[in-house]
Amino acid sequence: MASPYEHTKDELAQLLGNEPRYRVDQVWHGLWVENQDISEISTIPKALRAQLSERFESGLEVVNDIQSDHGSTRKWVFRLHDGSTIETVLMVYDDRVTVCVSSQAGCAMGCTFCATGQAGFTRHLSTGEVLEQVMYAARAAAPRRLSNVVFMGMGEPLANYKVTASAVRRLHDYRGLSARHLTVSTVGVAPAIERLAREGMPLTLAVSLHAANDETRNELVPLNRRYPLARLREACEFWLATTSRRLSFEWALIDGVNDTDQAIEELARYAHGLRAHVNLIPLNPTPGFLVRGSSPERVRHFRDGLLAHGVNVTVRNTRGRSIDAACGQLANVTNAKRRSIPVRSS
Ligand code: SAH
Ligand code: SF4
Repeated sequence: MASPYEHTKDELAQLLGNEPRYRVDQVWHGLWVENQDISEISTIPKALRAQLSERFESGLEVVNDIQSDHGSTRKWVFRLHDGSTIETVLMVYDDRVTVCVSSQAGCAMGCTFCATGQAGFTRHLSTGEVLEQVMYAARAAAPRRLSNVVFMGMGEPLANYKVTASAVRRLHDYRGLSARHLTVSTVGVAPAIERLAREGMPLTLAVSLHAANDETRNELVPLNRRYPLARLREACEFWLATTSRRLSFEWALIDGVNDTDQAIEELARYAHGLRAHVNLIPLNPTPGFLVRGSSPERVRHFRDGLLAHGVNVTVRNTRGRSIDAACGQLANVTNAKRRSIPVRSS
């Protein structure tokens, strides 16, 4: 059984066969506007509800539900139909409600500092599995309205391009989320960034940079060997020229590795040409990476250094740290594939 969110509206209409169009609209409204489970869509007859409930299921089974920050951060571990697990995080702020979704179970990119990367790749998620995470979070957030979706959970969204693109499209078209409220974070799959731009995908792009010299970036982000910084810059330039939308660079500050004065200079130069906004986050500790995050003083120094170079910069807060829900800490502790990758500290 698949999720109803696996389908476009036309596909759903076909699946409903002879039902009149207004029934399709009612089901669609229940699913996309009211975030209802099919069994809750009271505008349609009971028999149809029962029939649809037999045909569709969410496909997400909650195996863990943890809260922190006085309930304003919530992390779920979901088991999928084949037993693989993913994580989803809901963050409630005064001015917005954000869900951080996974695009893959695990990740094949192997970034050395990332818990998901350390655990390895299990499989791609389907469009329905991505959207079910959003809808589950939207239900949990009520009566607040879910306002932002960020693809910063487990996995590399641009390695699962079609699914990411269709999930973004549907959230935009059916749920009314604008490009400003849909963020895709990528480790830097250059051709896929260009494809997003060419296809006019309505989203905000965040590039996880972490180093602006190839030697350090090769160590932290193995994909850099395939798409080095010069190639990544080309893709970012293409994105800017094609979409006219600003992009941001994510930078996890790692003690003595990428928080040095030299790193400030390199990042300022790289970001400047691309007019990028920089988001700094102190590295979250993970079991497989032995280097610490930068101290609060060093984080401030780094931020001030960038500001002095005229770079726009924000220090991100570390929501959910205590429940391993912060970015890059999403790893399935029950994942049998989990392994540790020791890494040199410089
Ligand atoms: N694969 C995508 C999106 C998922 S990772 C990407 O890499 O961009 C989401 C974010 O968490 C990325 O910016 C990633 O670099 C960051 N991240 C990974 N591990 C982290 C850690 N241990 N501490 C802080 N940020 C981390
Ligand atoms: Fe994958 Fe992103 Fe983690 Fe790298 S940082 S291993 S791309 S999830």
